[in-house]
Amino acid sequence: MKGPSYGMVLDTRTCVGCSACVIACKTENDVPDGVTRNWIFTEVSGTYPDLSMSIRSERCNHCENAPCVAVCPTGASYYGAGGTVQVDADKCTGCKACIAACPYGARFVDPRTDTVDKCTFCLQRLENGTPTTACQEICPTQSIYFGDLNDPESDVSRLLASRASYTLLPDAGTRPKHFFLR
Ligand code: SF4
Ligand code: SF4
Repeated sequence: MKGPSYGMVLDTRTCVGCSACVIACKTENDVPDGVTRNWIFTEVSGTYPDLSMSIRSERCNHCENAPCVAVCPTGASYYGAGGTVQVDADKCTGCKACIAACPYGARFVDPRTDTVDKCTFCLQRLENGTPTTACQEICPTQSIYFGDLNDPESDVSRLLASRASYTLLPDAGTRPKHFFLR
C-alpha cells in the first residue's frame, strides 16, 4: 500500500480573506514579526461593471518536484513525512538558493536564526498524530482542508474528485500539492 501524500485544498468560493489562518499559523509555529508562512492573495479581474474578486489563502505548495529541494547544496531542504517539503535548520547555511528557486515566494529567512523557514504543514502536529493544520482548524468558513491525497476517502480527495480545481503556476513543472477549488 502507498504511504500518505499530504496535500491541501482551499475553497476559493468561501475564503473571505479574514487572515485568521495567518494569525493561527504565527501562533502555532512561533513565526516572528515581519515574515510569514502563509498569506492572503486577492485579485480583481474583469472590466467594470463585470468585476470578480478572487481571494486565496496561500502558503508553500509542498511541490512533488520541488526546485527548492533540488538546488539545496546541503540537503537542508528535503522531502519529509508524507511527501511534505521541510527544512532542517541545523543543516541550513542561509545561502538562499532555495528562495531564488521557489517560483511561489514561499520561503523566507528567519531573522532570529538566519536560516530559511516556510510552511511545514504543521509537521509537529503530524508527528503528534494530529493530522490537521492550525490554519485549517481556525478557518471560520471551513475553507481549508488538509489530508492524504492517496486516500480516496479523505476530504481532500473527495473534494478534488467532485469539484473543479487548479494549482498555481502549473507550467513551472513543480507539481504542487496545494489545490484551489474554483
Ligand atoms: Fe519549494 Fe516553493 Fe514548492 Fe514550497 S512552493 S515546495 S518552497 S518550490
Ligand atoms: Fe538549503 Fe538553507 Fe541554502 Fe535554502 S538557504 S538552499 S535550505 S542551505
